[in-house]
Amino acid sequence: MSEVNSVTDQDAPSEEEPIPLSRRAMAEPPYLADLNEAQRQAVVTTDGPVLVLAGAGTGKTRVLTTRLAYLLQTQQAWPGQILAVTFTNKAAREMQERIRLLIGGVMEGMQWLGTFHSISAKILRRHAELVGLKSNFTILDDDDQVRLLKQIIKEANIDQNRWTARHLAGLIDNWKNKGLTPDRVPAGESQSFADGKGIDLYRQYQERLKILNAADFGDLLLECIQLFQKNASILEDFQRRFKYILVDEYQDTNVAQYLWLRLLAQGRRNICCVGDDDQSIYGWRGAEVDNILRFEKDFPGARVIRLERNYRSTPHILAAASGLISANDGRLGKTLWTDLPEQEKVYVRGVWDGEEEARMVCDDIEQYQRDDRTLNDMAILVRTSAQMREFEERLINLGIPYRVIGGPRFYERAEIRDALAYLRVIAQPDDDLAFERIMNKPRRGLGKVTLQALHIAARAERISLTRAARQLIETDEIPRAKKALSDLIAMIDRWCGLIDTIPHTELAEIVLDESGYTAMWQNEKSADAPGRLENLKELVHSMAEFENLAGFLEHISLVADNNQSNAEDQVSLMTLHSAKGTEFPVVFLPGWEEGLFPHQRTLDENGLKGLEEERRLAYVGITRAKEVAKISFAANRRLFNQWANALPSRFIDELPEKNVEVMVDTGLYGGSMPAGRLNQDAAGPITSRFDQGGATPNPDAAGFDIGARVFHQKFGYGRIDMIEGNKLTIKFEKAGKKKVIASFVERHGSV
Ligand code: ATP
Ligand code: MG
Repeated sequence: MSEVNSVTDQDAPSEEEPIPLSRRAMAEPPYLADLNEAQRQAVVTTDGPVLVLAGAGTGKTRVLTTRLAYLLQTQQAWPGQILAVTFTNKAAREMQERIRLLIGGVMEGMQWLGTFHSISAKILRRHAELVGLKSNFTILDDDDQVRLLKQIIKEANIDQNRWTARHLAGLIDNWKNKGLTPDRVPAGESQSFADGKGIDLYRQYQERLKILNAADFGDLLLECIQLFQKNASILEDFQRRFKYILVDEYQDTNVAQYLWLRLLAQGRRNICCVGDDDQSIYGWRGAEVDNILRFEKDFPGARVIRLERNYRSTPHILAAASGLISANDGRLGKTLWTDLPEQEKVYVRGVWDGEEEARMVCDDIEQYQRDDRTLNDMAILVRTSAQMREFEERLINLGIPYRVIGGPRFYERAEIRDALAYLRVIAQPDDDLAFERIMNKPRRGLGKVTLQALHIAARAERISLTRAARQLIETDEIPRAKKALSDLIAMIDRWCGLIDTIPHTELAEIVLDESGYTAMWQNEKSADAPGRLENLKELVHSMAEFENLAGFLEHISLVADNNQSNAEDQVSLMTLHSAKGTEFPVVFLPGWEEGLFPHQRTLDENGLKGLEEERRLAYVGITRAKEVAKISFAANRRLFNQWANALPSRFIDELPEKNVEVMVDTGLYGGSMPAGRLNQDAAGPITSRFDQGGATPNPDAAGFDIGARVFHQKFGYGRIDMIEGNKLTIKFEKAGKKKVIASFVERHGSV
């Protein structure tokens, strides 16, 4: 970063006065008085490129919002002349609302305030014909995208089982994120798909989209970039129109977004980006922190402003977060300070398992409520959406209203609804809605035509769809779908036959497996597929708490019913990724365990780079807290649907000792604590995911002996009485004799 052009909020006011004389004469608007000097500079330096590079909670978003208000109020620009990019639609709405509060009046005409995607779509609709589309083009969702790719792969005579459409969709998205049209993809990059045919398929896909008058998500930006590159006069129009460009969360822009911005900003060069390299958490989606470094190159003479005063968090929270992030290499580096009063340290608490963790957090929430905090003041931030299930159940149980931010509630997720639909069909084959949902998921050639035939037959005979299906497959009414439909019915019959013979959790696994549903997500290479698979495992895990399938489904229908809350005051539940930009007085950070956080998949796939991104995610998490941050970990976590002894996250070790208060029952680890801070005797950081010496996950009964003492989440302690395959008969100390699945049982102590 060039020092010459930098100021910090400790500097004296700059001598150069960026505001023209005519305007300087005007009385300074009151909202400027609420800013510190560096912030003020970032607002009033309206002309020329400005990069605000600063840590969490230093007022970057506030600066951006105030800058926008200032531009409008000083009449340097009309609403339609400002392009303001936020990371989510929600953030755009919030910014609009804040501007309204700052300068009053309804913000009419702020038509260019939104996400990269929404703004690009708007631009494209105006000039669609120039990129070969019509202005009413359709924006394809993931499913449509995959369906189309499937056709293309099939026509190319490529083995679809080996080279799946979802895999190709992932590649194409990556290329689009990098701003690569088919003719720009480096030849080597498509080697990985169908012996180098990837690029050609990508080209065909783009051609087909044009015929369908459609664009996928990645196209919105890519087509815009092409529009600008090929039509100089249109680009100039937009460059003239956008007198000022403002970008929040700049550290998470990908290459395509960067190119897009650069094209639009090169005209007037009044671009102001705010960001924090330590909060770059979307590398897996193609975001490039390097964009921050490139800024000064592409916009020579850019003013770089650093904000160092944090207004959000108390000293311990800020110090804990700063200490943690200092373990990352290659940071741009910054100092943060606060003059908020010293308050509580960051808490680190260990519990037995995930259920106890949810209980503890929700007890705290109730306690804070009694202490006159509102639910809106509190947030639970999880690493993976699968973790939400346990918290949602507990919150529902206690009648605490909550909202899930950035995604659906656990039981409303598409993959969970699909899985539940399968289970509902087995429990009750006449459940038409459920049957309709799963009939062609995964795709098995039972599309609209078949469904229509089934509906007609069902109506005529006044029977359910599955019954109609049984009749139809005896006829020649649906020659094409006959085989697929009989296979499906045969599968359902088989599963129904298993209801009383195997444990319902096992049945659920079989169903998800044999139906091809799990495989469908496994074959998908998109970024959210692994999370969906985790959610499915969590669903099966949650079933273990119930006696049987019917009991579980009954519970689900009650939970779903309870799900709608219109309360104004609600606890917020979200993933760390969704938490960017937010702040709450009280923040709970559960699941800080090796394997879960840092997440094993990220470590496996991206090594050190992945670890650093996870650490930034932890930094984002802690810095959401204004007054209280409560980190927790469980000694036992059912990861990947198997019990595992979890170790506290290495991130816990990296928190500066003087800023945390550790509350861990040493009994949790059988008297000896795991390595690291929590065990001052042992040297070295915590590096392994599971306790190497102790129990490993038990995929089957192989590791069990008759008479061994075990622990089961629902039934507690007991001794093994009989072993049959992966099923154990156990005499529980409290619950009596029960038959359970080995993988849900954990060895405990010696025989
Ligand atoms: P993040 O990196 O998390 O996105 P940020 O840098 O965008 O954080 P803001 O959300 O803008 O920070 O500000 C953090 C908090 O500090 C907000 O509550 C904001 O209102 C407050 N704040 C910022 N600047 C000031 C100021 N000059 N005086 C008082 N409060 C301020
Ligand atoms: Mg912000």
